Amino acid sequence: MKEAYLLTNLSIFFKALFLVWLWIESSNVLEKRLNGGLLKRLLQQGTIDGLFLFALLSYFIPDRSFQFYLQILFIPFLILDGLLPKLETKMKVFFWVEIAVVFAIVKSGLVISFIGNPSGGYYFFGDSSIFISFFWFIFFVSLINLLNLIEGLLFGMTSVLCMTFLVGLFVQSTTNPTALPFAIVLTAFSFLLWLFTLFRVKKGVTSPILSSIIAILVGMLSIIATSKKLALISISITLGIFLIPIVFFSFIIYFTHFLYKLKPTEFAEQPQVLWRFTTRTVNAFALVATITLNVIVSVIVLHPSKAWSIAILCFCFLIFIRITQLIFIKNYKKCKDIIFPLEDFIIMFGVKIFRGRKKRALEIVDSCLSQPYSKMHHLVTPDALCLYKTVHDPYFKDIFQKAMMAIPDGAGVLWASIFLCERPILQRIPGIEFSKDLFQLSQDNNYKIFFLGAKQETLTKACDKIQSEFPQLNIVGSQNGYFNQDEEDAIIQNINQLEVDILFVALGVPLQEYFIDRNRDKLKVKLCVGVGGSLDVMSGNLKRSPKFFQDYGLEWLYRTLKEPWRITRILGLPLFILYILKQKLKQGDKETLALHEITNLNQG
Ligand code: UDP
Repeated sequence: MKEAYLLTNLSIFFKALFLVWLWIESSNVLEKRLNGGLLKRLLQQGTIDGLFLFALLSYFIPDRSFQFYLQILFIPFLILDGLLPKLETKMKVFFWVEIAVVFAIVKSGLVISFIGNPSGGYYFFGDSSIFISFFWFIFFVSLINLLNLIEGLLFGMTSVLCMTFLVGLFVQSTTNPTALPFAIVLTAFSFLLWLFTLFRVKKGVTSPILSSIIAILVGMLSIIATSKKLALISISITLGIFLIPIVFFSFIIYFTHFLYKLKPTEFAEQPQVLWRFTTRTVNAFALVATITLNVIVSVIVLHPSKAWSIAILCFCFLIFIRITQLIFIKNYKKCKDIIFPLEDFIIMFGVKIFRGRKKRALEIVDSCLSQPYSKMHHLVTPDALCLYKTVHDPYFKDIFQKAMMAIPDGAGVLWASIFLCERPILQRIPGIEFSKDLFQLSQDNNYKIFFLGAKQETLTKACDKIQSEFPQLNIVGSQNGYFNQDEEDAIIQNINQLEVDILFVALGVPLQEYFIDRNRDKLKVKLCVGVGGSLDVMSGNLKRSPKFFQDYGLEWLYRTLKEPWRITRILGLPLFILYILKQKLKQGDKETLALHEITNLNQG
């Protein structure tokens, strides 16, 4: 009986696989033959893929209520997909359609009404199950859509999920007759498409519409495929799969950070670990993660003796770490033969960032200050968010490109360089520390300095403190940062009359950069430095983060805990990380940023 059951399902799997293969081949031939028109567009944007999936599921699962769910899901998506040619408008409309579709599915009864505790007993949700299921779906769909950023990963991960549910379905005692063929067909569909996107047809990233449909289908599977006993496990596994990339990226960040900390001198001479972070390695990683997770699920479900379970889990974990290392890390690369034209700098995001030791940066600044005034030099001190702003704000980027140099203030900038560049930045130079070194330099050489920014009370306090720490420092004047536009010229005139050498501007990002840039030609000072909230710290009003937070690149966390209204700012950090990873993916295996830089410079 059991064997016959297994055979029937295996035959479904192979039939589905064959049909998917047939459809991919024929749609490819058709797409090449067509010269344009509606059909070509529908083929290219994945509408026909959606129709095919609908037909496939209806054929293998003749269950009436299931057909109903499929119709609710597919019909609005496919109609809109055909009617709206522009992707941007489509995405806006689809967002609302997605919510309506999910709501309709949940309202018609497909809900998570309880969760089974693996050690016995259930938790019933009662009336709230509709809302719980609704949010579960929306959350799930958004996460799956995020995977669509990397080629092939969407299908990779959906086949991972479906396979996980399949393993669960096979090992559980009561099996839902709809769920099994559903899981099998979806697995076959995703699996074959995954292989095709990676190795055969260069289709690029999956159409967002198809990705939404698949996300909802897998969401439905997650609800109907699980017995009461397995519900909690399968939902945790689903979430676990999404947590892997987050944990993994954090691992990468900290791994590079520690490695860097351990061997700082070696880094100075030779470059770092090369990350083989490409579409294929990310997909290979997804595959390894699948296998590992499926073994873990099986261990949890089959529940062998405790000692065996622990041994298998430890073994899996070690193998997983080792393979991950093999997939992503190329090895240490020495590149002594390469001659770098910009010894002290790297170019990242098109910005010239200082990469050397602090002492050298001071020498460069001093060489500008020791000469008579010819033009104003702008020194910027970006952290990760500030650097990320250059990606979206062309004016801001332009200011950064014109700057004499950028001092890496934040740990994120350092990390990005370690991950992206052949020669990483050697040392993080916090803006506040660099300002103090500039005070020392000015005291030793009698440079005149001026402070502009912060509230009057803060400014007075900061000036007093600085003066007592550096008694010979020549502070020629100061001006609080709350003035009108029409007072600006008078302030600049005052600064020019005082023949200031260094102007510290503490108006915060991006006000200070805009101020410096718009007065570039009027200001007759040798050096302008944007110092953000440094005066607040120097005055003693704001405490600098403890050493632990500084050492581990967590200053942003400390500042957010102290000033919770900053939370909206740090939301940009995950976007920054995503952006760096995308850059790395683009960069691929072939060439590193530094080499690219050199070619560009040589051509320039
Ligand atoms: N500030 C100012 N004028 C303004 C707005 C802000 O002088 O119109 C000052 C503010 O008092 C504070 C600093 O600029 O001292 C802003 O620091 P923030 O911590 O926001 O900047 P960040 O360090 O994040 O660049």
